[in-house]
Amino acid sequence: MRVTVVGLGPGAGEDLTGRARRALEEADLIVGYTAYIALIREMFPDKEMRSTGMRREVDRCREAVAAAAEGRDVAVVCSGDAGIYGMASLVYEVSQEFPPVEIHVVPGVTAASGGAALLGAPLNHDFAVISLSDLLTPWEKIAQRLRCAAQADFAICLYNPSSRHRPDYLRRACDILLEAGLPPETVCGYVQNIGREGERAVVLPLGALQEARVDMFTTVFVGNSQTRTIGGRMVTPRGYLQRED
Ligand code: SAH
Repeated sequence: MRVTVVGLGPGAGEDLTGRARRALEEADLIVGYTAYIALIREMFPDKEMRSTGMRREVDRCREAVAAAAEGRDVAVVCSGDAGIYGMASLVYEVSQEFPPVEIHVVPGVTAASGGAALLGAPLNHDFAVISLSDLLTPWEKIAQRLRCAAQADFAICLYNPSSRHRPDYLRRACDILLEAGLPPETVCGYVQNIGREGERAVVLPLGALQEARVDMFTTVFVGNSQTRTIGGRMVTPRGYLQRED
């Protein structure tokens, strides 16, 4: 009958929105990546759930749309927001292979806003969001986007900064930003395990970020030319006080 693509927030805990919870309650089948199914299993112990491993995204979304076409009420779960490096677009794409089903997207707290709140206020002006994963995007395009964002003085939020197969991608990204003219003192930060056990926020200059060892549960923030630290937090002014000068 319908597929609802639900963003669970960064940890599927307190940041799960009321709408997301209701969508999960109403679904009679919940489909998702094994780790996210595990996060919501305790909340809905009796609900039918199907989990698939990493890199099985296409199968998972096809399975969800097929079940909806057979009359079921299916929720596809993603971490953070379903439409930010999530499953929302893929569900729309694969739905073209099936008889029409209703599709809804329920937004969630994305890692950029969840992480920003922990660091201070690093994204309080124009910012660019770039994923460093080259599984689906050629590295040259990622590099070009990094250069353009740096040249345009955007604050930058980096998703997928590292994985087992690409441990040095954050270092490569920092090299590109430094070459594009960002000073090594540029205020940066990273946040690990937002909303989960092991949550940690670190503020550091770009020169040190280059050496930081981060894992795939990390979101990275690079300040713009106005970003500074206030009481040890990372803050990008909107410009209200500067206007008074
Ligand atoms: N749809 C998700 C993003 C999925 S891409 C969202 O809107 O947040 C996966 C990347 O998101 C990770 O590599 C990491 O950069 C970021 N991320 C997701 N959950 C996170 C968390 N709990 N803590 C820190 N970063 C997270």
